[in-house]
Amino acid sequence: MASTRRSLPGAAWKRANPRRLRAIRDRLRTAYGRPVPRAHGAPIDELILTVLSQNTNDRNRDVAYERLRERFATWEDVREAPAGEVEDAIRPGGLAPTKSVRIQEILRALDGDDLTWLEDAPIEEARRRLQALPGVGRKTAACVLLFAYGRQDVPVDTHVYRVGARLGLFRPGASFEEAHDELLRLTPPGAAYEVHVALIRHGRRICTARAPRCRECPLLDLCPYGQTRVNPVGGPPKIC
Ligand code: SF4
Repeated sequence: MASTRRSLPGAAWKRANPRRLRAIRDRLRTAYGRPVPRAHGAPIDELILTVLSQNTNDRNRDVAYERLRERFATWEDVREAPAGEVEDAIRPGGLAPTKSVRIQEILRALDGDDLTWLEDAPIEEARRRLQALPGVGRKTAACVLLFAYGRQDVPVDTHVYRVGARLGLFRPGASFEEAHDELLRLTPPGAAYEVHVALIRHGRRICTARAPRCRECPLLDLCPYGQTRVNPVGGPPKIC
């Protein structure tokens, strides 16, 4: 993560405007296609899935989630189960002792609230309710709002943060909280899902953590970090 926070020689950070993110989104759409959002309407499922996704890959997360759903018929059953049984069910996802405790704490804190009201609630109120749950931060709340109901919120995971920081969308050294606010401010209405997915795809395929392939990147002329890499002594970066 440290490399995404290096300062840009010769160029002070300038706050991006929404037009810039629109241009980035359009380039990534050309490169990767337009992802289709499929809001599934199951906020608690999404919440638990997001807890299981911490510090593991998608495949292990999905195996853990499937085992949990196979072993317990309802979320109430998970809440009331002996801790060891929940832990055993989610073991393939890693950090099972910690995640099982967190999942049961969340289900107890929900106290029967099915969270379906999040679909129509004011977004700030919905976010506040989610972030009041044990261990639920801004990214998890955004995942629930976006993937369950297609609400306008953009989860900032490590890929989104790294790519966004390199593109200068966030202030250098911005916290994840600040990055969420900035990305949300920049994202065109209705484009939250596309922006999130496109930045993740780009982070996995081209703008990787250790060796970003800037010379073949469709965003190079929009990217201050990329320009300092391909032209390290060429003076201030030229950003379109
Ligand atoms: S130019 Fe390089 S650093 Fe910038 S987005 Fe592309 S791959 Fe990432």
